[in-house]
Amino acid sequence: MARKPFIAGNWKMNMTVATGTQLIKDLAPLVADANCDVALCVPAILIPAMTEAAKGTNIAIGAENVHWAASGAYTGEVSTAMLKDYGVQYVIIGHSERRQYFGETDETVNKRVLTALAAGLTPIMCIGETLSQREAGETEAVITKQLDIDLQGVEDVTKIVIAYEPVWAIGTGRTATDEQAEETIAFIRSRIAEMYCPKCAEKIIIQYGGSMNAGNCKGLMAQPDIDGGLIGGASLKLDFAKIVNWDK
Ligand code: PEP
Repeated sequence: MARKPFIAGNWKMNMTVATGTQLIKDLAPLVADANCDVALCVPAILIPAMTEAAKGTNIAIGAENVHWAASGAYTGEVSTAMLKDYGVQYVIIGHSERRQYFGETDETVNKRVLTALAAGLTPIMCIGETLSQREAGETEAVITKQLDIDLQGVEDVTKIVIAYEPVWAIGTGRTATDEQAEETIAFIRSRIAEMYCPKCAEKIIIQYGGSMNAGNCKGLMAQPDIDGGLIGGASLKLDFAKIVNWDK
C-alpha cells in the first residue's frame, strides 16, 4: 500500500493573527490540488484564528506541543482537550528546540506521545542527532535510543508520524543530502520493523525536516523512504506551496 505523503509546516514562535490569516488565505488556492496531506502547526494562541482561516481548505491546523496531564497546575502548557476543542489533529512532540531550550527529554516526549495518542491526536514525533553525534558516528545509536524511549508503551506505531530532523540541519540552511536523509530514514523504518512489524514499517509516515525548501524538496521527496517534510522557515512564506506541490 502506497503511503500518502504529508507536508507539515512548523511556524515556531512566528506570525500574528493578521499575518497568519493572510498567509493561509494566500496559500489555500495554491495548495488546493495537493497530492499530499497538508498541515500547518502554529503557536497555541493562534490555533483558534488559524482554524477559522483554514476552514473549507485542505490545510489542517496543528499544534507545536501538548502536555501529558489532562489538566492541572502546569502554567503555560496546553492540554489535549484544549487542542481538540478546535479540531486539531496533529501535534509536534519532541522538537529539537523543545529538547534544547526547554528541558524536553525522551521520557517527557514519551509521556506526551502516549497522552496525544490516547486523545486521538496524531503526534509528529521529532528525533534526530546533533552534529557532534553525527561526526562521532553515533547517529544510529542516538536514533535507536530515542525510538526505544519515545515509543515506550505505544501499541500502534502507525498512528504516529515520525519526523527525522538532524539537529544540525534545522534553521541552518544546511540540509542533509538526499542520500544522508534517505539512509537515516531507511534505518528508522528498519528499526520500526524490528520493534513492531514489517507491515507497520511499511505503513508509518516518516518525514524529513531540516532546511527543506522549494529548491531541495524534489530530490528529498524522490527518496523511497521519505514520505514528506516538516518545514520550518519555508512554511512562513508562499514557498511552502512549492514544497507541497513538489510533484507538479
Ligand atoms: C523545523 O523547525 O522543524 C525545521 C525543520 O526548521 P527549518 O525548516 O527552518 O530548518
